[in-house]
Amino acid sequence: MILPLTRKAGGIRIKSPQELELMRSAGRIVAEVHVRMREMVQPGVTTADLDAAAEKIIRGYGAIPIFVGYPNAKEGGPVFPATLCTSINDELVHGIPSRQRVLMDGDLVSIDVGVLYKGYVGDSGWTYPVGVVNGEAQRLLEVTEGSLWAGIAAAKAGNRFIDVTRAVQDYSESQGFSVVREYTSHGVGRKMHEEPQILNYVPERSEAARMYPAMNRKLAPGMTFALEPMVNAGTWRTQLHDDQWTVSTADGRLSAHFEHTIAISNGEAEVLTKL
Ligand code: MG
Ligand code: MG
Repeated sequence: MILPLTRKAGGIRIKSPQELELMRSAGRIVAEVHVRMREMVQPGVTTADLDAAAEKIIRGYGAIPIFVGYPNAKEGGPVFPATLCTSINDELVHGIPSRQRVLMDGDLVSIDVGVLYKGYVGDSGWTYPVGVVNGEAQRLLEVTEGSLWAGIAAAKAGNRFIDVTRAVQDYSESQGFSVVREYTSHGVGRKMHEEPQILNYVPERSEAARMYPAMNRKLAPGMTFALEPMVNAGTWRTQLHDDQWTVSTADGRLSAHFEHTIAISNGEAEVLTKL
């Protein structure tokens, strides 16, 4: 589940060692769901099958699937009805699992998992190939995952948020793809979406200073974020479906999405949702 672009920045909470320990536990549950998803994804499986399996694992730990009932970005819009977001091919995020959506050979399916465990959130999305995918789809998977790891490599204490943003954008665009601008990475902790929004593209300097003052702030040990580049084969522009949740590329071309929850430490960032 992804934060739509808004125009604000506020306080960034530093987590205590005890809080980080709880976030590691939440992250391990999310990772275990992904291990199961990777096994299950194949032609003929429905996205409702994936959703049921994920919910069972999460509830088995006494954790809560945190996407269920999540409010719509649009006032009065429908709440999110499922455990997972499952988004196929040109859909980039927030697809709703359904018995009618059957995975087919050659599809890409993005599976986003969020859990709340003992008051703390783990959030990770991964895009999986269904059967054998074509060359462009394979390259899109590699580049999107690469852009996530480029962002994680830049997520060090002392660096600024804009350094993480730039690393994500530079890597994906240098490979000939575009990075989605209308949805962002985000702080995470007691809530799924905490400050700050972390853009995946570098805005104009004047716009950045006015709208995203946090972008020039420095990362510090104990901050926790969900980094989640969404990378498109064609345009970065997106469109919202009539269900008020599913987001697709505006040109109908493929999209991929990779996300980890990470904690800033004194050296490399710690990945809390590692598979
Ligand atoms: Mg997510
Ligand atoms: Mg997220």
